[in-house]
Amino acid sequence: MKPLVEIIDHKCKLCYACVRACPVNAIQVRSDQAVPKIMPNRCIGCGSCIQVCSPEAIMYRDSKEETMAMIKSGASVIALVDPSISGEFPDVVDYRKFVQMIRSLGFSHVCEVSFGVDLIAKEYSQLFKDFKGKYYIMANCPVVIGYIEKFQPELIPNLAPLVSPAVATAKVVRSKYGNDSKTVYIGPVIASKNESEMGDEDGKINSSLTFLELRELFSEYNIDEKQLEFSDFDPPYGFTGALFPIANGILQVAGLDEDLLTGNITTVEGEREMKASLRQFQDEGDIINSHFNIFYTEFLMGPGTSKNGKKYIRRATVKSYAKKRLKKFKHDEWEKELEEYSHLDFTRKFQNNDQRLYPTEEKVQQILVELRQDGRDDMGCGACGYGSCRDFAVAIAKDLATPEMCNHYTNRNRQNYIQSLKISNDKLAQTEKALRESELIARKEKEAAKEASEITTAMLHKLPSAIVILDEKLKILQANETFIEMLGDEAREINEIIPGLVGADLKTLLPYNFYNLFSYVLINNESVQNRDISFGDKLLNLSAFVIRKGKIVGAVVRDMGAPEVRKEEVIKRVTEAIDKNLSLVQQIAFLLGEGASETERMLHSIIEFYKTNPRKDKP
Ligand code: SF4
Ligand code: SF4
Repeated sequence: MKPLVEIIDHKCKLCYACVRACPVNAIQVRSDQAVPKIMPNRCIGCGSCIQVCSPEAIMYRDSKEETMAMIKSGASVIALVDPSISGEFPDVVDYRKFVQMIRSLGFSHVCEVSFGVDLIAKEYSQLFKDFKGKYYIMANCPVVIGYIEKFQPELIPNLAPLVSPAVATAKVVRSKYGNDSKTVYIGPVIASKNESEMGDEDGKINSSLTFLELRELFSEYNIDEKQLEFSDFDPPYGFTGALFPIANGILQVAGLDEDLLTGNITTVEGEREMKASLRQFQDEGDIINSHFNIFYTEFLMGPGTSKNGKKYIRRATVKSYAKKRLKKFKHDEWEKELEEYSHLDFTRKFQNNDQRLYPTEEKVQQILVELRQDGRDDMGCGACGYGSCRDFAVAIAKDLATPEMCNHYTNRNRQNYIQSLKISNDKLAQTEKALRESELIARKEKEAAKEASEITTAMLHKLPSAIVILDEKLKILQANETFIEMLGDEAREINEIIPGLVGADLKTLLPYNFYNLFSYVLINNESVQNRDISFGDKLLNLSAFVIRKGKIVGAVVRDMGAPEVRKEEVIKRVTEAIDKNLSLVQQIAFLLGEGASETERMLHSIIEFYKTNPRKDKP
């Protein structure tokens, strides 16, 4: 079966008015749900959420189809009409007209629940007369019963063990019109729809229509009072039970004493009053010493009635309907029938369906601190829909609410968020500034490096020695003019097309024995110093060195035939020979006892000759 009340997701505007209105926190708000969700196990069917939802996103279970299906099945279907119908249909001139309108839908009988009120009132009268010091809560309002069963089950033993007037009437009509009859209650409260799931077979209510659904059926089946004749209710007829829609009407029907001095029964109506009276009945019942007649809302203003109904006008209509009914009332017949059905069993039992959850105090305190920071537990602003900050914290602990429903919490978080945004913005600005500065430094460094590179390249090109720099594939990265000159005509021609031979493959320009030395340096990361190599008719001297391991190698190549090289080289090599020979000569002199001065003198004379005769050095 569909839930009694549900939220239509696409209509919900997330205003949370329903959450605030629900007296038992049966509407769950969770961050993983797009819209609030009604929890059927906690819902008591009061309809408050429906009445406050302006986009009409909350619907109660529709019973029109099931009712009409029953009627169309050919079964005997009896309408049990709540007396509050008089308050709902003041637009229908005579009550007998709406009896006929209901009959026109196909009901086999149309009976008054007022008779059930009379019967039950008699039972209450008896119960309270013999109450033996135990005080009772009258069980006429299904919302109050649901509240006690789910949220104050300690009071179940004090619930008067009597069925509702509607169930009492169902028992009577089955007894009168046949046990196989189906019954449909037509009334102002939506919680009655759940009564069809309960009760003995003889008191079963097969379906329950609200007055609003009845209006919809009239419209759907084009039932118009102007086209109909009168028709009265089917017996048995009710007496003062017609006053039931007014909260203390049942007391008058039962003849219970409401006198403040002599009576011992208190009538309560409204959500806050219901909760307060039940709390006080439980805690201080021995001081109060009174039975309680409690309604969540007067029946004539129930959630199944038309919107914007005026309570006191409805009350007046109910009273005038009751008076009208009594004008031609056959009291004897009524008493006889009352007697006839008094033997039926009108007792009932209640179920403990405790829906209270008990989070640990530690958890509640933790949430209070998160909500308020100061952890205070006061009445709060009520914007979340809970009576106090503590109630709200308990609901969060029970997973019925989220902290975001608290304005205080949300505002504080928003401010914190703004503050953190401000801090990160400041940090961002600082980083941006530092970035700009380092960009400037990097640009300057780049420019300096470029300048240095240009200077180095220029210097490289002016060096008398041949310089070449290669990548790991032996492609030329840099080569100076001396190197290009040294390679000869072919290289000179390439240089005209590709200045500096950049990208040229050394392997195509030099023989294997030459470029193989570069490969060696690249592979072994080991420099080669002063290696003499024949190149055509030249003797070249090569020193290759690692610039970047395995990636770049550089080389200085000297043409040993060039005069300045030859002179310099001869000086260098003779100096090396002197150093080497000196050591040898010193050893020999030491051994022979002779000086090596002659050899030394001779070698020095060669050096001097080269130093002082630069133009005489050609072979
Ligand atoms: S009152 Fe209606 S619109 Fe607002 S949150 Fe509840 S269901 Fe949605
Ligand atoms: S019907 Fe009443 S108890 Fe159920 S969700 Fe709506 S307000 Fe809450």
